[in-house]
Amino acid sequence: MSDALTQAREQVLARIREDSGFVLATHENPDGDALGSLVGMHGLLTALGKDSAIFIAPEDLPLPDEYSLFGLDGLIQAPPADVTERTVVFLDCGNIDRNSASVLRDAVHLLNIDHHHDNTNFGTLNYVVPSACCTAEIVWDLMKELGVRPSASVARALYVGLITDTGRFMYENTTARAHLMAAELIECGVDVPEVYRRLYENLQPAKLALLARALERIQRFDSGELTLSSLRVDDFRDAEAEETYSEGIIDHLRAVRGTKVAALVRELGDGERKGQHKVSLRATDDAVDVSAIARIQGGGGHRRAAGFTTSLELDELTGFLRGAIASQLHPSSEGQTAATLA
Ligand code: 5GP
Ligand code: MN
Repeated sequence: MSDALTQAREQVLARIREDSGFVLATHENPDGDALGSLVGMHGLLTALGKDSAIFIAPEDLPLPDEYSLFGLDGLIQAPPADVTERTVVFLDCGNIDRNSASVLRDAVHLLNIDHHHDNTNFGTLNYVVPSACCTAEIVWDLMKELGVRPSASVARALYVGLITDTGRFMYENTTARAHLMAAELIECGVDVPEVYRRLYENLQPAKLALLARALERIQRFDSGELTLSSLRVDDFRDAEAEETYSEGIIDHLRAVRGTKVAALVRELGDGERKGQHKVSLRATDDAVDVSAIARIQGGGGHRRAAGFTTSLELDELTGFLRGAIASQLHPSSEGQTAATLA
């Protein structure tokens, strides 16, 4: 760990030790790591006798079915009246624009605890550890340092963060430390098959119907380097699927032989971005950094998993992706560089 990171860790530990009131927040559409780190941090603070609340905006509730295993003790759906007196802790949120509650931005102490390498360092104190496989790993480390042993339910929450962000120990962020963390959490009482069953089985039939549509619509470009599928609002309606049911579909695209980048494009059906496209990107190896592609469109993420929202139409969007991928994979090819600029 660099000196700067060690210092940031010490400062975070000091805030946790010294402050008494906290409010915890994460990014919109919270995923397993976002929720796991929220619940883990809440468990840590509560064990230390602190007053802690977890803020999740009403538009992100109820959580998708698979996350019903999280008991959200301390949940609030609006920032508390005394928010300015509390230390605000953002977890797993690379960019503060990914949270709608602007009042949280004015906190005197705004802790930004995350593992996205492109985190915008929006906190008054930024503790960003790109080598951590998940934000839950950072919370687990703080917990150990502060001498708090997670309860079985907190251990399970951290375990969910761990397995969702490592793709069940499949992605390149699956370090020895990730497995050590798993071992310790299991010793704290995680029921492994139960967690997997609740997260990945018990599927709503509508989820399979939506997957079937996405698989039918797979397109491959540039000798298969890009494998792309798209889902329209009609597909969700016909499959009787909710927006969150598309989670996991991209893993099927990523798995297709020859694929360097997988893209899933979803038309948004609700809210102020209705009709726009939400794009999920995955890279299969280090040859392409998809977070750099996402940043061009105002999004971000990790080198191998990133996303953005755009008002580009599907054809234009596909052209953009092909060009951006080509400019990373084949930088000397003139035609493909031109496509990036188009
Ligand atoms: P997913 O494709 O599962 O929605 O997201 C994959 C990764 O990209 C996650 O790490 C997520 O935080 C990041 N990501 C997805 N969409 C956005 C976005 O619109 N902006 C930013 N900054 N990151 C995103
Ligand atoms: Mn994460």
